[in-house]
Amino acid sequence: MAIPNSPSIDGQRLIADLKRIAEFGRYKTGVHRPCLSPQDMQSRHWLMERMKDAGLEPVIDGIGNVIGRSSAPGPKLLLGSHTDTQPQGGWLDGVMGVIYGLEVARALKEAGVPFGVDVASWADEEGHFGAFTGSRSFVGELSDAEIAAAKHREDGTPLTEALQQAGLAGKPRLAIEPERYRGYVEAHIEQGGYLEQEKKRIGVVTAIVGIFQYRISFAGQQNHAGTTPMHLRKDAAQALFRLCTAINDAFPAVAGPRSVWTVGRVQIHPGAPAIVPGAAEMILQFRDEQREVMERMEAALMHLVAAAQADGPCGIEIETLSRTFPTVMDGAFQDAIEAAARLRAPDTWMRMPSAAGHDAQIIAHKLPAAMLFVPSIGGISHHYSEDTSEADILLGCQVLADAVAAILKG
Ligand SMILES: [Zn+2]
Repeated sequence: MAIPNSPSIDGQRLIADLKRIAEFGRYKTGVHRPCLSPQDMQSRHWLMERMKDAGLEPVIDGIGNVIGRSSAPGPKLLLGSHTDTQPQGGWLDGVMGVIYGLEVARALKEAGVPFGVDVASWADEEGHFGAFTGSRSFVGELSDAEIAAAKHREDGTPLTEALQQAGLAGKPRLAIEPERYRGYVEAHIEQGGYLEQEKKRIGVVTAIVGIFQYRISFAGQQNHAGTTPMHLRKDAAQALFRLCTAINDAFPAVAGPRSVWTVGRVQIHPGAPAIVPGAAEMILQFRDEQREVMERMEAALMHLVAAAQADGPCGIEIETLSRTFPTVMDGAFQDAIEAAARLRAPDTWMRMPSAAGHDAQIIAHKLPAAMLFVPSIGGISHHYSEDTSEADILLGCQVLADAVAAILKG
């Protein structure tokens, strides 16, 4: 469908760029491109050349962020995502949003839209050295002390050494100029299966979920598993299992339709078949898109812990490890993405939260932010088999281009 005054993306050029950048660190059908590795740096320099070809002025900064700046007048939109990958990861996670940004910049220029976009590839989104290292640096939330202390999570290489090897030592770090931008829009693969399950092709992200995490410890009495009668036991593991069951019974009544909760780690001490466990510990995490829902789940959890403590026979302690609140996406930007999706993909779009974390939640500290999702085949991501149909890749970029043009014109 032709839409007047709309930028038209060049699908062949978009796919060719996605395939070309996937060559840097190719692994089977995916990509192995950890941040600041030689292949990551090659891809960043290639990206800068493509930005130049698109009429953007590329800069790489002292943490590895690459930003292509537009010389168009007036407030701009910042588009982007990340080009680093998980170990043996997929070919689209992150990089699709960056190449979309590049293609939208080209399409706007070709359509004669007198406004511009800047395009960013944030460093270390996949968290090899920290969490959202590049985007946090850009919004001023990464201190020199944190950089000096950061080490690669697997091989222990200091971040400063990795930056040195990448040729970035001593370069200044880019800092956000909030007055330059209307906001930030990030396109990404869904990395889950909701869109596919609902037979939708575009996700308009409402919020990036928050994550609350707790350590719950149980203190019992270690004893002989043969000679200790059941009624005299203070079995810490049984106390843990009872609380898990109580959580599973209670949470559905207070949770939202997409809330998820996970006991991802359990330790039982001393962990021997012939010993009544004297101590146990579990890590509970839950996620939701609404702060009120998360607070309701937390209140229910505290109530269950207090009730279990009162019932005995084991002591229970709960420690809050982290509380990250949901990041709500900008309403007007969501409307613009929805309007574009309605035209380009009638009845095949939906509003949905992001269950995974993204740089958009960091940039949202300083700018109105929004996200657009395309489906992941089989809901698979963080694996080299991750993929999205070419038709969906093209559709997502065109919807983004329309939405960006509408926001800039508006
Ligand atoms: Zn990603």
